[in-house]
Amino acid sequence: MEEKLDVLDMNHDELAETLTEQGYPAFRVKQIEQWLYSGKLDFSAMSNLPKEMRDKLSATFTAGGLKIADKLISKLDGTRKYLFELKDGNIIESVLMKYHYGYSVCLSTQVGCRMGCAFCASSPLGLVRNLTVGEMMAQILSIMQDVGERISHVVLMGIGEPFDNYDNVMCFLRRLNDENTLNISFRKMTVSTCGIVPRILDFAREGIPVNLSISLHAPNDEVRQKTMPVARKWSMDELLRACKEYTRLTSRRVTYEYSLIKDVNDSSEYAAMLAQKLKGTLCHVNLIPVNTVEGTRFTKSPRARIEAFKQVLEKAHIACTVRRELGSDIMAACGQLRRNTLMKTGKV
Ligand code: SAH
Repeated sequence: MEEKLDVLDMNHDELAETLTEQGYPAFRVKQIEQWLYSGKLDFSAMSNLPKEMRDKLSATFTAGGLKIADKLISKLDGTRKYLFELKDGNIIESVLMKYHYGYSVCLSTQVGCRMGCAFCASSPLGLVRNLTVGEMMAQILSIMQDVGERISHVVLMGIGEPFDNYDNVMCFLRRLNDENTLNISFRKMTVSTCGIVPRILDFAREGIPVNLSISLHAPNDEVRQKTMPVARKWSMDELLRACKEYTRLTSRRVTYEYSLIKDVNDSSEYAAMLAQKLKGTLCHVNLIPVNTVEGTRFTKSPRARIEAFKQVLEKAHIACTVRRELGSDIMAACGQLRRNTLMKTGKV
């Protein structure tokens, strides 16, 4: 059987062309898009379309095709963690978080990851494949369908390395911004990377004001190389130079993620070293108590150590916050739920 086309894999023009080719009048395209991008992915429920059209659409197309394989809701803060099954049976994770400014989703960009960061739950499982634009879109729309809310912010900090799936991710960001889809402002989108320097430079030149977040996790190459293989490919100097270039071209500040791991990267000396490196750049440091992943030797820094680290940065006038640990009761650190599920089902 021929595989059904997915409407979420198409941009506005492609969808219009496909539907027109199949004999649908042009005004139906807008109606179908209005349903899809308000999170109603079921063709049979598109009540302003004639019944036979709904049946034909269901027979010809899919809309994302994600199944919720599991859903965990935090009792502490309402954060929702979704485990989605893709059409080919692979699984990925997404998270919905509620902030005072609205709902934010954290999306996956790949099935697995090949960057190999030692503290991360996705590393031992490796990369399976890139996600398509439609699969990234399907995560946010499936979440909208589930909660019946609009989403205002999107962060690409789920499973995978966004810059290892660069072209699809750039296409996805532009699609999110399209007025025919979700019309989300570029300024409300964030891409997080472990530090693929040539792609950071490409990103800086895309001409879209999307926020950049760098997973730094260390004050120098020596410490960074202990946990992040990517640090052996590009030095911190090269990385920070690329970030400066991003700021020069976009006038936007860079967020540096720093997961504090007990006795690995959390001393006050390291905080001072980090402050020295970032001095004079437009930046913000996000301190994150590391989530311990089963089978790794990394544990959270004690609270006092985190506070001391923060104070050193603040004294040096580096803006920093300690990230609120949303969903800490539901394995909200990305990759943990997928890993646990694959282990339970004997797939790893
Ligand atoms: N590959 C991208 C985005 C996905 S990971 C990147 O590296 O930025 C999202 C963030 O979670 C990254 O900052 C990553 O380093 C961090 N992270 C991964 N495992 C973690 C853990 N166990 N505890 C805390 N942060 C973790």
